[in-house]
Parts: sequence; structure tokens; C-alpha cells
Amino acid sequence: MVTSQQVELLAPLSGVLMALDNVPDPVFASRLIGDGLCIDPTSQVLCAPLAGVISNLQHTGHAISITHANGVQVLLHIGLDTVNLGGKGFTALVEEGQQVTAGQALIEFDADYIALHARSLLTLMLVVSGEPFVAPSPGGVLVETGQPLLRLQLGQAETVAEVQAGDTQRSQPQRLPNPNGLHARPAAVLAQAAKGFAATLHLHKQGESANAKSLVAIMALQTVCGDSVYLSACGSDAEQALKVLSELLAEGCGESVVAVAPEAQPVAVPEPVASNELRGVCASPGSAFGHVVQLTESVLQISELATDQRHEREQLQQALAGATAQLQTLCDTTQGKAQAEIFNAHQELLEDPGLLEQAFGLIEQGKSAAFAWQSATHQTATLFKGLGNRLLAERALDLDDVGQRVLKLILGVQDCALELPDLAILIAEQLTPSQTATLDTRKVAGFATVGGGASSHVAILARALGLPALCGMSPQVLALANGTEVLLDADQGQLHLEPDPQRIRQLTLQRALQHQRQQQDLQQAAQPASTRDGVRIEVSANIASLAEAEQAVSLGAEGVGLLRSEFLYLERSSPPSHAEQVATYSAIAGVVGTGHNLVVRTLDVGGDKPLAYVPMAHEANPFLGMRGIRLCLERPHLLREQFSAILASADLTRLHIMLPMVTQLSELRMARQLLEEQALALGIKTLPKLGIMIEVPAAALMADLFAPEVDFFSIGTNDLTQYTLAMDRDHPRLASQADSLHPAVLRLIATTVKAAHAHGKWVGVCGALASETLAVPLLLGLGVDELSVSVPLIPSIKARVRELDFVACQALAQRVLGLESAGQVRAALQPLVQPMTELES
Ligand code: PEP
Ligand code: MG
Repeated sequence: MVTSQQVELLAPLSGVLMALDNVPDPVFASRLIGDGLCIDPTSQVLCAPLAGVISNLQHTGHAISITHANGVQVLLHIGLDTVNLGGKGFTALVEEGQQVTAGQALIEFDADYIALHARSLLTLMLVVSGEPFVAPSPGGVLVETGQPLLRLQLGQAETVAEVQAGDTQRSQPQRLPNPNGLHARPAAVLAQAAKGFAATLHLHKQGESANAKSLVAIMALQTVCGDSVYLSACGSDAEQALKVLSELLAEGCGESVVAVAPEAQPVAVPEPVASNELRGVCASPGSAFGHVVQLTESVLQISELATDQRHEREQLQQALAGATAQLQTLCDTTQGKAQAEIFNAHQELLEDPGLLEQAFGLIEQGKSAAFAWQSATHQTATLFKGLGNRLLAERALDLDDVGQRVLKLILGVQDCALELPDLAILIAEQLTPSQTATLDTRKVAGFATVGGGASSHVAILARALGLPALCGMSPQVLALANGTEVLLDADQGQLHLEPDPQRIRQLTLQRALQHQRQQQDLQQAAQPASTRDGVRIEVSANIASLAEAEQAVSLGAEGVGLLRSEFLYLERSSPPSHAEQVATYSAIAGVVGTGHNLVVRTLDVGGDKPLAYVPMAHEANPFLGMRGIRLCLERPHLLREQFSAILASADLTRLHIMLPMVTQLSELRMARQLLEEQALALGIKTLPKLGIMIEVPAAALMADLFAPEVDFFSIGTNDLTQYTLAMDRDHPRLASQADSLHPAVLRLIATTVKAAHAHGKWVGVCGALASETLAVPLLLGLGVDELSVSVPLIPSIKARVRELDFVACQALAQRVLGLESAGQVRAALQPLVQPMTELES
């Protein structure tokens, strides 16, 4: 008879019973996770051994936990090392949080596939909540699914005091090195070690936390390799616990992990990456074949306290001066103004009063120069990274970079020259702008990083160096062994592992031809962009600075289709004066001249791009919050000031003003009224052209109502894609799906163009889609009048237009609008890419 003090566990499978001692896995055999049973299955459906709630279902489907109402927790783990199958062979029949009855089917699995691809099919049923039981003597007994197996005695599990007095301490954030995150075995090792401390311990990942003494809670965090985690502790032995557990996490909690090698040293990698293709986001176009070289930053040893404050102050001052001089050398030697500006910006960071005040303040409190500088830069960078804003997160990288430069000078650490093989494909968590600018392009063929974004300074530098590069890679890439042959195809966002020789030959040839082609395009950059059948398309530039305006003109830009004016205001702690704003716009207008359009987009800040001097409330969804025109209309003085500064350039260029994020007609009307008032105040009778970005689906769908009231539209495909597909534009795991060639986005472009042309207005595309060679025929076919593109791509986009037949583009566009997916659209466009061999002649 089962009493209320007892819980009965049923066999989750049919098969042969085995004692845990015989399981060929020390973590399970030692009962680290919990005591229980093992079954060598003869059936293929895992069923619930007791009623309860699914407290954890691993996304790979190989392990599941059930918690009974009385607290009993049972973990079922199908096979050994099956986490590596990445979900293949498992079909979950239930969901996390679901209530299940005893005997209910939970997971169906393909025994043949697992037996062939994993270490073992042995399946474990473990009582992780610790209730004692008397196990049947298993020795080869055959059991049937649903047959009663174990009877647990309740109220006898070990409990851990959770309430602790005292302050909570935190460990430094660290990246998980485990190839599959903290799945059952490493989670068990961590939980077991945590149980050895009296302190309350939690493991945190991106706003979620788990009791670090609970295996199930740790597994429920669903961590993956490379996740940034930290520990918090409260209690008498908190400090010791944090130290021990942080070390354990760094070592992989008993699992073989990617060793963190000293800077630029080869990394020993025990675990191969499963698939032979990894995906990322193109940071710099092109392709390259080469051998993996893993790069890791060395950890600098820093002591916290110092006795001689004067000495520490001097040390910091000297290091700052040294870093400024190094950056000046970089500015002077780097080619191109845009690159030099990056290092100028780094120099400015070294003079940032907030940063200096913080660092010198810490020295006053008795901290060492190195510690004080690191804390100050680290805190600001963490703040930037945590704001959920791509641009600020990318600027945080600059801060990390410059922070490290000064730190090395304080500590007297020399950067040893990197010994690279020929054709090195660098792989790193992240490259800094300084590292990128100094890469030896005779040896480095390209790079791929986990972090970074297509608009980061690293990406800009890579493009300037002509190095193909991918960012936003899966952390799996860090597990590639040094020397692995790879083919980096940045154009397709792919890193092929062990590619076949024919493909290598093909891409090497393509690369040479690409280079030849770029040279040809450059020679013809000043020629207009007209299709073979005589349709003229304007190819203009997307810029964010005067230097880019100059570069754009030299590369044949027919004006500026998008000046992202927020870049002039973002990295400052006080608003620019009217005179400063006027000077900036006038200088750019002067470069563009009266023969071309200068489209100045008004501030696209707010929510995700906060301006330091405009206090804003925290928002849960900044991309859906007070952004762009919404923010400016809420604070009209911002818009008035900007309008009046822009209007000062009215005579220097063909001035156009463009409003970002417009969703409602009322926004356009209010902004126009403010513009008219400012123009009146300045005595300007002819208003500049006023247009809107089409980047919110609402605006595209209502383009017929907007069109009569604007002078032009410019389609922001970056945001239009994000809002149409409900996919964060910077989400690394959605990068391959958030594709602007999705037919839904293309249909909105078609709707916009049709509405604009019906009212005699022109339409540009200034989102990144316009800079994709593949998309050019389609955009032309959809009727787009202007392509505003990334500066270095101006010659190649113009050349692409010259190759096309407009009538054929129109037919193509109609065909593509009926397709189902971005993949199908890409496939339809691919044959139109001019075969490289044609170029040889
Ligand atoms: C866009 O959204 O496509 C665009 C051009 O604007 P931004 O990338 O600056 O948001
Ligand atoms: Mg946008």
C-alpha cells in the first residue's frame, strides 16, 4: 500500500534494469545528480514515472524533469552524451510547465539513430530531490513501461537552509566554456559543489537566475556555450563560495571544454563541432579559404590596493599620455579618414571627464591605478552593453579596447607580435578596433567573431582593409581546432568547415575576379548608374560624418541619401551648441554641393539609443518605445533646434529633411508645422523638401495617405524588416532569418513605391538591402528610384545597375513577390549574379 508519506515511481520505459553503479559515466554512477535507476530501453517512448509538473525540458529533448506537488523531483535522461545530438532523434510530446499524469508519454525517441550517434542509449531515472528509497535488485530484470519500480519515503530529503543574513556578493561575469552549456552533468557538478557551502547561492544569466544548489534550476536556465553568467552569494562563506564556484565554472564543471589560451596562442580543442557549416552575419563582404587561428585575450593580473596614491596617479597619467600617442600614430598611419576617425574617437574617450573622474576618484580611495582604470572603463562599458542598444553596445567595444590599451601601459605588458601562418582565418569572441586595424593582411585572409555587429567599428575597419568577415557567429566557432581548414564565405554568411577542394578552387578564383572587378568598378565610379535600356537610378551614400561625405563623393556618390544625424550627438554628455550643429551640417552640405541631394534625417534617438543629456524613463521594449520622431515630438525643442541648424545649409546643397520612425500622419503634420515655424523665424521662404522614412509597416501600408503630404519616401529596410517579421534586427540567433528579402518586406516596398509614384513622388531605399548586390535588380524592378548605400559599396552598386535590363527587372520583381520565403527569393536572384568568368575578358 502507498501511504501519503510515500510516492511510487513507475518505469518510464520498457527495458532491462541496471544499477547506477554499472553506468559508464562517473557523474551518474557516483550519484552526484541523485540516486535512482538505469534502464537499457527496448521501447521508444519515455513516459512519466509520477504525476507532476514538467519543471524542465532541455531544448535538445534528451532530458526532462518532473516535480510532484509534494516536492519530489525526478530527472529522466535518455542516453549518455545525447546532449551532443542537438535535439536530433528526440520529439518532445509535452512542454515545460505542463501538468502530466503518471504514465503519460513525454518524449518519443529514435533508438536506432541515438544508438548510432551517441555514446549509449542507457536511460536514467534519478531522484534529484534526494528522497530515500529501497531499490529492487536490478541485475538484468526486464521491466515494462508503467510498472511500479521505486517507492520513495517523503519528508526525508536533505534540506538546505536558504535564508541567509548579510550582504549579497557577486562574482565577475564569465562566459560558459561548456560546448553545450550547463546540461545535466556539469549542472550536477556545480550544484553539488554549491551544496558544500552554507551561503545562499544563485547563478544568473541575462536577468534570469537559478538556485545554484538545484540541478533542475540550473538546467532550467537553458544555458549555451558562450553565455555570460555570474554568481551571487549571501552568507558567512559567500566569498569562498564565489571563488570556488567561479573557478569551477571556468574549468567547465568537470567537462572537457575549450581551453582559454594565452593571447594569440593556439587553443587545444577536444570537442569537434557537429555540423560542417556555421552561420554568421556578413560584417565585410568577400570570401577566403584558410586555416583557423583562435585568438584569445590574456587575463591581466591586477592588484586592487596601492599605498602610494601619488605614484598611482602618475602611473595613470603617464599611461593615458602613452595611449594617446599610440592612437595618434594609428591615426597617422591608417589609410582613409573614416578609419582615422575611429582612433580619434578613442583619443576622445581618454579625455572623457566622467571616466577620468571615476578612475582618479578610486585612486583617492586607495585603489591601484590599474584597478581604478579598469573599474571605471568596465562599469561604463557594462552600462552601454546593458542598454539594449546596438550602437551603444558597439561603442562599449571601443571603450573596452581603449581601456585595455591603457591597462597594458600601466602594467607594462607588451603586445607580442602575432606569429600567424599564411591564410589565417582568425576566430575570436571579439576583435577590438585596435587589433583589426593592425592585422597583417599579408597573412590574415579573414575573420569570424561571436560578438560584434555589421555596423561596428571592427566591421568598418574590415571593409576598409578588404578582409572578408563574419560576426554574430555561434559560440561553437570558438571550439574549432587551430589549423582546421575553413572556407569563409562572408557574402553568404557561412563558414564552411573542411570544405571540398573544388569549392575552395572556385572561391579562390572568385576572389581574384572579385578584386579585378572592384578595380574596374572603381575606375568607372564617376559614371552615372543607368540600366542597359536607359533607366537612370541615383546611387547615393549613407553617411554619419563629414569624413564619410568626402569619401562618398570621391567614390562617385550622387549625393547623400541618408545622413544619420544622431551620430553627431550620441557620444557626448552635453548637447552641441547651435553654432556647432550649423558648422557640422554646413560642412557636409558644402561637400555634397548644390548639384546633389543631401537628405538629413532628424534625430533617430530615444529608447534604444538614449542621448546622455535627454533624461528618459527606462523602457521594457525600447524598440517599441519612445524612439525617433515620437521622442522629438514629445520634446519639440530638440526638433526645433535641429531644424533651425539644418536650415542654415539651405543654400549650400539640395537640402532634404527626413523624419524617422513615422507611424501616424499626425506626426508628419506636426513636424511640418514646426519646420515651417522655424523657416519663418529664419526668413526662409522656400522650405527644403520634407520626406519620411518608411520603416514601420503601418507607414508602408498607409503610404497612399502619406504620399500626398511628403516630397519623398526613403525605405529603411533594417527597421522595416525587424518590425514586419517581429525579429530583433540585432538578435544573433535570428540573424539568418531576419532577412530583408522576405516576401512580406518586399510586398511592403512594392506598396510604398506604387503609392509614391501615383502621387509623383520619388522613393529611395536607404536600409542595408540597397547595399546588397543581389537585391539591386529586384529593387529596380519594384520601381525604387534611388539606392542609398554604404560608402565603400558605391562603385559596385553603380556597376551592378549598369549591367541590368530594367524591363527584365520588372518581370523578376513580379515573379518574386509571389514567393513564400526569403530563401526562395535568394534562390531566384542568384542566377542573375553575373558569372565571374565573364569578367576575365
Ligand atoms: C533602416 O532602418 O533601414 C535605416 C536605414 O535606419 P537605421 O538603420 O539608422 O535605423
Ligand atoms: Mg531605422
